[in-house]
Amino acid sequence: MFHRPSHASHFGLLFQTPESAPHNHHHHFYHHILPKKSQPAPASYATAPQTRPPPLPPKELVAPALGGTDPVARELKTVSFPRDCLNRFTSIASINTARNRETCGLLLGKDKGGRFVVTTLLIPKQHSTSDTCAMDEEELVLQFTEERSLITLGWIHTHPTQSCFMSSVDLHTHSGFQRMLPESFAVVCAPKSTPNFGIFRLTDPPGLQTILECQVTEAFHPHPERPIYTDADKGHVQIKDLPLEIVDLR
Ligand SMILES: [Zn+2]
Ligand SMILES: [Zn+2]
Repeated sequence: MFHRPSHASHFGLLFQTPESAPHNHHHHFYHHILPKKSQPAPASYATAPQTRPPPLPPKELVAPALGGTDPVARELKTVSFPRDCLNRFTSIASINTARNRETCGLLLGKDKGGRFVVTTLLIPKQHSTSDTCAMDEEELVLQFTEERSLITLGWIHTHPTQSCFMSSVDLHTHSGFQRMLPESFAVVCAPKSTPNFGIFRLTDPPGLQTILECQVTEAFHPHPERPIYTDADKGHVQIKDLPLEIVDLR
């Protein structure tokens, strides 16, 4: 399994605001598959998936696909997202997908004043299972984004066999992004499903608050039945024909 001496501050490191990650345990990709320091490792989790229950089906209600209906959504800047990114990421992920392993990437870009533009798909070093993906060596990611003055606008990952939805793990991961930048969005690519991609954000309120306040430590768990997340591509994320740079750090 994955080992590193210290991980508590890396979310802050990545987003350059170390004070912003207080007590919630779900800040980063790898928080979901790493045991907390004070607890024994859930050894069965990564090594013997047959010993844990199968992932729950999507429990969260998906808000009406109109986007832009919660108070924060109406204030969001537009984010332009290159159409190419979907197929190219799916293609990069195909080797992992064939092995029933997820792949994850970061969507980086620029603030163009009135709007954000995704310019770069960064594939970090990572390790994954059939339903989780975790970044390794995030300092390389930080170095890259700083050198290039790029902003983390979102993240993208595959569901090798499952449909296109936000799992509870995904929701917790995404809450870390969205609390840092309200425009942050999550792309899920589900090559074996229809639809084969989705672009999501947490409703704000109540989704973002619900997830940030959730203290459940099990990786997969249900949330209260309220509209937790919604489509963002019918809201502030606009898919456009734009150039895309791909950088693979693996
Ligand atoms: Zn997922
Ligand atoms: Zn939760």
